[in-house]
Amino acid sequence: MKELLGGKGANLAEMNLIGVPVPPGFTITTEVCTIFNEQGKDAAFSIIKKEVEDSVAQIEKLTNTKFGDKENPCLVSVRSGARASMPGMMDTILNLGLNDQAVEGITIKSGNPRFVWDSYRRFVQMYGDVVLGLKPVNKEDIDPFEEIIEHLKEEKGITSDQDFTTDDLKTLVARFKDAVKSKTGHDFPTDPWEQLWGAVGAVFESWMNDRAILYRKLENIPAEWGTAVNVQAMVFGNMGETSATGVAFTRDAGTGENIFNGEYLINAQGEDVVAGIRTPQQITLEGSKRWAELQGISEAERASKYPSLEESMPVLYKQLYDTQLKLQNHYKDMQDIEFTIQEGKLWMLQTRNGKRTGAAMVKIAMDMMDEGMIDEKTALKRVEAAKLDELLHPVFDKNALKTVKVMAKGLPASPGAATGRIVFFADEAKKYEASILVRIETSPEDLEGMHSAQGILTARGGMTSHAAVVARGMGKCCVSGAGGISIDYKNRTLTMSGKTYAEGEWISLNGSTGEIYDDKVATEAPSMSGDFGKLMDLAEKFTRMDVRTNADTPEDAKRARSFGAKGIGLCRTEHMFFEGERIKAMREMILASTTAGREKALAKLLPYQRADFEGILEAMAGYGVTIRLLDPPLHEFVPHQLATQKELAKEMGISLEEVKSKVDELEEFNPMLGHRGCRLGNTYPEITVMQARAIIEAALNLKAKGVDARPEIMVPLVGTIKELQMQTDLINATAQKVFAEKGDSIKYLVGTMIEVPRAAVTADEIATAAEFFSFGTNDLTQMTFGYSRDDAGKFLPVYIDKGILKYDPFQVLDQVGVGQLIKMGVEKGRNVKPNLKVGICGEHGGEPSSVKFCDSVGMNYVSCSPFRVPIARLAAAQANIEK
Ligand code: PEP
Ligand code: MG
Repeated sequence: MKELLGGKGANLAEMNLIGVPVPPGFTITTEVCTIFNEQGKDAAFSIIKKEVEDSVAQIEKLTNTKFGDKENPCLVSVRSGARASMPGMMDTILNLGLNDQAVEGITIKSGNPRFVWDSYRRFVQMYGDVVLGLKPVNKEDIDPFEEIIEHLKEEKGITSDQDFTTDDLKTLVARFKDAVKSKTGHDFPTDPWEQLWGAVGAVFESWMNDRAILYRKLENIPAEWGTAVNVQAMVFGNMGETSATGVAFTRDAGTGENIFNGEYLINAQGEDVVAGIRTPQQITLEGSKRWAELQGISEAERASKYPSLEESMPVLYKQLYDTQLKLQNHYKDMQDIEFTIQEGKLWMLQTRNGKRTGAAMVKIAMDMMDEGMIDEKTALKRVEAAKLDELLHPVFDKNALKTVKVMAKGLPASPGAATGRIVFFADEAKKYEASILVRIETSPEDLEGMHSAQGILTARGGMTSHAAVVARGMGKCCVSGAGGISIDYKNRTLTMSGKTYAEGEWISLNGSTGEIYDDKVATEAPSMSGDFGKLMDLAEKFTRMDVRTNADTPEDAKRARSFGAKGIGLCRTEHMFFEGERIKAMREMILASTTAGREKALAKLLPYQRADFEGILEAMAGYGVTIRLLDPPLHEFVPHQLATQKELAKEMGISLEEVKSKVDELEEFNPMLGHRGCRLGNTYPEITVMQARAIIEAALNLKAKGVDARPEIMVPLVGTIKELQMQTDLINATAQKVFAEKGDSIKYLVGTMIEVPRAAVTADEIATAAEFFSFGTNDLTQMTFGYSRDDAGKFLPVYIDKGILKYDPFQVLDQVGVGQLIKMGVEKGRNVKPNLKVGICGEHGGEPSSVKFCDSVGMNYVSCSPFRVPIARLAAAQANIEK
């Protein structure tokens, strides 16, 4: 149903079916949006005209009103609703149907002229901005309607919208209409049907607005999906003191705690709660007390000025409480709901699975499983693997927190630790490597800046403000509604506790407590405990594939192991050649012009390599450790600057000219397709011999110490069977030699990377000389697409923008192309060796959709960087469950 009706429409229909009170309405499907965008307005509207007219008639019947009627006018809201929730990204129009006649009718009916005229001026403003295009495009430009409001306030000497009288509101409507006429050349439409079709068209068009496009890109939502349009009878939260409106979550979206929470405002419309214009009040008493404490508000002031809904409308609170439970039990997930109370009657306007932080996502899944609401497999599927990343980010160092200077406090809108330099405008968030976006409040236009910033701080807005909701969705640290800070956009300053900060100065945010700290605060690595640990245990129970890690140091190996890695899938030995004395010996080896010269230099490298291998094999004792032979082109190791070239010449006792000519000689046009990988080991076999010796000796030394070392030697960049066979022979001969010398032996494997397309295509031949395959999908992607790994950054963003590619193929495995080579490689390899061990060690090994693909082709393991191990473990379990 969601595909056609969008999330909002489907849930409205479902709420209606389970007996939750929703205002009457109908939904225009997402298919119509696609027709609208592909074939144009006329084509789309002619198809739905009759049905829309009939549906409006149905609303009229149910609410006993009439579109455009003088006495009993029918008013509707027109809202977008995509398949996936896109909060605040597309347009909404409320109070549609109002005109000079209808306004009179409603005034008599409601007996509340101020409310009616307030609704009217909001409608003209919204319609003018959204449908008639009066909304300014530039951030410097002022909304013409806001400008009129400000002028009138000045004329009247008032500061708040609340102070406008009914006559003022009438003046505003008249001035708004004049503004429309002068900007568009047309009168503001008074015919409700014209208003309705205009609004429907605007919602469809908003699917293609810049911020919706950007949001889709960030969230990987395809443009083809389109949005639905929901048309619903209006209910009013601003009909006086017995009316209210609010938003709520059935559980805490920041921490996952099982407590009902949310915010509301008496005598207000929905937009007021999220826009951060008035200070919203808490729904529950408990929440209200917590809030007051964070804001430094006394209990007396809280109870009189900001009472909870539980206190101010206890009967309705009870109804709301029961309804939210019903919805949560029905959907079996945390719900984000919108409601309105119109003159003492509760209406639900929306429910959807609530956006949440990574931590809340894990806790809610584990709690609901414990409560018996969902089973183990559902709990695993609920957790979005990529979002675990948030839990693997640094937290504030506990010791550093003891000495921080707390400058102000706001609401803990989205947990996390953020340290960065202050910026005041979203489009400047990229100015610094780490920035904190500081705003009075945020709006959907700020999306991109919020994404680039480390954290977000707002002076206004509650836990359900735009900033809070979006930040939680992004898993970005956010402190909102920090009333004690003052922001001056013009002078670009932030003042808290008497100290004024200029743009570019450092502050830190604690999204879990709402505290704002002076300056930078140190952070530390997170741990995998509590619910996170429990989730990982559950993943273990359902997984088929193992997860290994790519690690070059014992520290990385240990960290990955603490995250649950079972072995090393790739140890890149080249990183071991750079430190201190090693690079000197390496350069000596490269510069040597004879085999004997190279062997002499390699002998110096041997002890370093052996020690490194001992460290890493020991850190992964009991598990396989795949060590790859030297892979990069040699010119990466030689000095390119004159000073270091001179130094090297001196050290080696040769002339600068000799060094320079060797460096020139190593220069290649396409180094990534040049003298690298096994081509090195086959042209200079002594390199392979040294590395094989170091590995076998390391393992034997460990065996003597009682450590279970399990080396797997891997040959890179193989394209033909002969290339591999020569290397395998060398390795095995070396191992036998070392065994004989030491009078002892160990088990070891020799295998190959499959990263050249030819190796995948001839995998049946290659497999005859390999004990395992490891797909190097970085190079395999590079060579399959013909995109240079090092240069693709120049055109890939454009390709993705233009829709030529959906994803960056270096991040998300191209299953259609590269994936077919992998599939073929696995099948051909196993045809020859049915038990051939197969894994992946390219970057894709930690990307959830790619991990699922690896499972589908029957790989034994995936290997990824230490911090992605938990993500891959969860994705591997999900892949197995979803089969
Ligand atoms: C690969 O090519 O996928 C791989 C893992 O090797 P590297 O990235 O070191 O070339
Ligand atoms: Mg490679």
